[in-house]
Amino acid sequence: ANGLMAGKRGLILGVANNRSIAYGIARALAEQGAEIALTWQGDALKKRVEPLASELGAVLAGHCDVSDASTIDAVFETLEKQWDSLDFVVHAIGFSDKDELTGRYVDTSEGNFTKTMLISVYSLTAIAQRAEKMMVNGGSILTLTYYGAEKVMPHYNVMGVAKAALEASVRYLAVDLGSKAIRVNAISAGPIKTLAASGIGDFRYILKWNEYNSPLKRTVTIDEVGQSALYLLSDMSTAVTGEVHHVDSGYHTVGMKAVDAPDI
Ligand code: NAD
Repeated sequence: ANGLMAGKRGLILGVANNRSIAYGIARALAEQGAEIALTWQGDALKKRVEPLASELGAVLAGHCDVSDASTIDAVFETLEKQWDSLDFVVHAIGFSDKDELTGRYVDTSEGNFTKTMLISVYSLTAIAQRAEKMMVNGGSILTLTYYGAEKVMPHYNVMGVAKAALEASVRYLAVDLGSKAIRVNAISAGPIKTLAASGIGDFRYILKWNEYNSPLKRTVTIDEVGQSALYLLSDMSTAVTGEVHHVDSGYHTVGMKAVDAPDI
């Protein structure tokens, strides 16, 4: 294949359907010649992921529930049988109980706090541990975060705390893996209507707020996140690591509501 990703092989975790950010990234990478492996979480999503994998010519790497480490091991065993090395990983996974993505952060339960951190934060490190062994020629690891890590967003609650820890993990992993030429970065995406986002209270309001108040006066698409991911996962960014790159129509630069923004 030709393209920026020709000869590169990578694992993408987090495709649920054709609206997933992970799917936008997978498509951008496949167009540039990458060889991709996809996982799914449970049988219900398997039915959705399989046709997308065949469309992209992707390897089926199996069921992966990151809260069960044996399923992560199984994915890497499958990869090791097919590929002798790995060049990139996309981690596009997040979870929190919907009942706590509304109301007040202060009411977060211990159980959901722990589960949110395990699935949304620790999983990046668990995957990096296994990927390190296969990234014999160096590599690039990418995760997805949100501005709610930096500033308080309505209803984002425990997920904001988790994303802050995820962004710190990116920096610690970047240092630990840098000597092996393995880079670790995050894309901080603006709000996009996906399955995961539908669990967040008043999400439509948040989308409109970003549209009216971002410098570009619009929201972002999964294809645009995909194009930025292409930069971070390809040799276009060989000197970039530990970075949180905002793909949010510039929203994070703004300090105040636009004076001409309509009421929502
Ligand atoms: P999505 O629902 O399409 O993807 C979320 C994925 O997480 C799904 O594929 C789901 O199967 C997976 N997942 C959840 N729990 C898991 C577990 N225990 N084991 C394995 N996989 C699990 O939604 P999305 O918006 O594309 O989310 C992808 C990432 O992007 C998430 O980290 C999310 O926080 C982040 N993000 C989303 C937005 C947005 O507005 N949609 C903005 C910024 C960042």
